[in-house]
Amino acid sequence: KGPELFLPLRANAKGFDLAHTQTLERIETARGAFARHHWKATPLLAGDVDANGTTVTVQNPADPQDSPGTVQNATAKDVASAFAQAQEWAAPLEERRTTLLRAADLMEERYGALFALLAREAGKGLPDCVAELREGVDFLRYYAAQATNTPPAGVFVCISPWNFPFAIFCGQVTAALAAGNAVLAKPAEQTPLSAYFAVEILHEAGVPRAALQLLPGGGDIGALLTSDARVGGVAFTGSTATALRIRAAMAQNCAPGTPLIAETGGLNAMIVDSTALPEQAVQSVIESAFQSAGQRCSALRCLYVQEDIAEDFTRMLTGAMDALRLGMPWHLSTDVGPVIDETARKGIADHIAQARREGRVLAELTTPDSGTFIAPTLIKVTSIADLEREIFGPVLHMATFKSHELDQVIDTINATGYGLTFGLHTRIDDRVQHISERIEAGNIYVNRNQIGAIVGSQPFGGEGLSGTGPKAGGPNYLPRFSAPDRETSEA
Ligand code: GLU
Repeated sequence: KGPELFLPLRANAKGFDLAHTQTLERIETARGAFARHHWKATPLLAGDVDANGTTVTVQNPADPQDSPGTVQNATAKDVASAFAQAQEWAAPLEERRTTLLRAADLMEERYGALFALLAREAGKGLPDCVAELREGVDFLRYYAAQATNTPPAGVFVCISPWNFPFAIFCGQVTAALAAGNAVLAKPAEQTPLSAYFAVEILHEAGVPRAALQLLPGGGDIGALLTSDARVGGVAFTGSTATALRIRAAMAQNCAPGTPLIAETGGLNAMIVDSTALPEQAVQSVIESAFQSAGQRCSALRCLYVQEDIAEDFTRMLTGAMDALRLGMPWHLSTDVGPVIDETARKGIADHIAQARREGRVLAELTTPDSGTFIAPTLIKVTSIADLEREIFGPVLHMATFKSHELDQVIDTINATGYGLTFGLHTRIDDRVQHISERIEAGNIYVNRNQIGAIVGSQPFGGEGLSGTGPKAGGPNYLPRFSAPDRETSEA
């Protein structure tokens, strides 16, 4: 039977029920087949690939003895070839849609390989693997359903991060494709294999090679891609500093008004007041700060707890932290896996060491001897203003506040200049209203965790230093991938 053409806009993937033993066994068998598999990525171009590209071994962050595969990086010649060969995806709208839907189905069928790869290339535990696949195919189906016949922007450069090497890669690329663009995609240097996996499936499903080319590599390749006069638009997810560099390069080289869709960092806060349900709030804090080893830009970085409950709350929180298990991402018992690489580990470890010297570490677990692990850590601060930068790992900062200081706390959070996610735990309705109106954040979550936005229901993206909008997985995203004169502005 053929794929359905007119999906409702919110047909999210069902995912896997990890509480179901038979499902778990099925997953274990499927990914077990790829436990020692050696993946190979190369540039995927419409023309010939430069044989002089260097081949690099991809690291497994959890196990220095293991490598999931190799990548041949793109060269300047490959970039030139990709621009020369790039062709917009001129197929009729219905064909673009069915092709993306077919690709989504193939991705779901190959979950075993993808989960094994995500564990070994990106250190992802099973719940994160499931979330990554779900979000990836949700993006494909959502943008397929939303695609219209507006003229494409031209050549769209997509630069994606290592923390969602599959989902965000798929989101950027298939939004650009759904709008009929020619895509040049550069995945994060740490995670080229997951991107290659996605592109192979998209090609197999019928996306022409000239409409989707993959250029693995580092910042040098990114710089070449974003400073070319032929660029019709750039989608970027990564650090604020890189986004600013891309903006400057585009301002110099690209036509005025060329869109830059940037999703960058955050310094995300959560407020827990004395009316919050403590168990629910603790659970939300644990998930928001430590899921994915804290390597989400949505993750909680600074928790504010009302002073009256702070002592009890801290005891409950550190108790819950003690129960977290650090370990290999492919073990089902693991709650917290490694951080992405040694550079990341060192930066986070230095931050913790500094806090330790200042006597501000309230709780920390033990770290395994090998692999790039950071144990979940709780650090005391007086306010979010003490955080000089986003610490991209399982490190939570905690401050306290008195009831009459609430507005001041909100001002301090807004003053960081970031505005991605914000969490609030309270049972006072007026307070929800008041704080939601005042806080400057793209995504506000009340009485739940603050990660894991669902495509179609919770468009995701920030303000200020956190991004340019429009939000991914929302109705305003796709129009930005069309020709600038047809651009609709973000509400
Ligand atoms: N969309 C993800 C979430 O809601 C975060 C994306 C990111 O970390 O870049 O948790």
